[in-house]
Amino acid sequence: MAEFSTLICEENQHENVPVYEFMDVNSKEFHIGAFRDLWLDVLNPEVYSYSDTAPEIEDVEFIEEMGIESKTLEELKSICSVDSLRSGHEGTDNVPSDLHLSTLKLRKRRQDYKETLTRYAVDRHEVYANEMEMTSVGKKPDDLRDLIPEGEIILTFNIMYPILFRRFKFVRAYQTLHVLGSQKLSDLRDAICCVSDLQVFGEFSNTPDMVPQFISKDHYKSAFFFFNGTFFNDTRFPECQDISMTTREWTRTRDFSEFKTAKMEDTSFYDLKMKVGFPYLYTHQGDCEHVVILTDVRFVHQDDCLDIKLYPLITHKHRVVTRKCSVCHLYISRWITTSDALAPTDPCLFCDQCFRMFHYDDKGNKLGDFLAYAYVDPGTFN
Ligand SMILES: [Zn+2]
Ligand SMILES: [Zn+2]
Repeated sequence: MAEFSTLICEENQHENVPVYEFMDVNSKEFHIGAFRDLWLDVLNPEVYSYSDTAPEIEDVEFIEEMGIESKTLEELKSICSVDSLRSGHEGTDNVPSDLHLSTLKLRKRRQDYKETLTRYAVDRHEVYANEMEMTSVGKKPDDLRDLIPEGEIILTFNIMYPILFRRFKFVRAYQTLHVLGSQKLSDLRDAICCVSDLQVFGEFSNTPDMVPQFISKDHYKSAFFFFNGTFFNDTRFPECQDISMTTREWTRTRDFSEFKTAKMEDTSFYDLKMKVGFPYLYTHQGDCEHVVILTDVRFVHQDDCLDIKLYPLITHKHRVVTRKCSVCHLYISRWITTSDALAPTDPCLFCDQCFRMFHYDDKGNKLGDFLAYAYVDPGTFN
């Protein structure tokens, strides 16, 4: 996209056509809505329409465009047809029954062995990834009212791991999302999943059965995006606070120009000026900070998921190794203990079963001194 835009910009110095600010890194800022309108002015609606052009019309257009005769087109069609790629010896999976060649014998043996295997070749991550793809790729909505209007824009965002996690070298995107230009910033916020939203605060070694069901996300709803000098706060709920205040007050005492604030639920991506490839910030749960990068802006294509209800659409999730219980090394950890004289490390991770067997007698009385906290594994989202 960037190269193409650069070409246009040389002819027409329009401020809302993206050009590189730093070569191959990020573009200068441009207005997303205005950029879309420019494309809509220039493009023939057929280009972004969901309906196919009839093949006959396509042929006529091709003949005119290339300046060739219809005879040449027919010849091209037969030469470039997929059928011409076939070797004539298809179906080599069937090993002939007449086995004289050793290679064929080996192949037959291998084939017979494979048939005895009942294990699935794909692991659960792949099964999940495939299923996720199946539900969205090329999906048309059941109800036509949920069809994304033609000429809508898709923005691709990479959400990075919390900045806190950097010491684990998780600098790659852990989530890639497609969001529509008409959607609000709060829609993107709701689609970002982060383990710190799932934490349960409190120490529960005396009452392991009383771990509350509510999680941080239910308690601490404040969050903001920081895009181009403006803090977009989530103010949808009465308990939301302006958590950008601390930063803004700090900047006032230094030599910074005044930062603006706005409501994320009132702002759509079409209202924004953004840079492609530039690191922006998403902050929630007080100080859980994620770098957010806009990597692409494009029209919706007929092969995209066209069901508006499925957006923001998660298109990629990085897999994290789950941290297993330090006793059984089998189940994903659910508890973390500290100051635990019985544990080999401090802190120490346990699955629910090992935690209870290790720390309580059969009447549920606590054995020894330790502090216990509910643990949410970052691999939970795998
Ligand atoms: Zn987070
Ligand atoms: Zn265990």
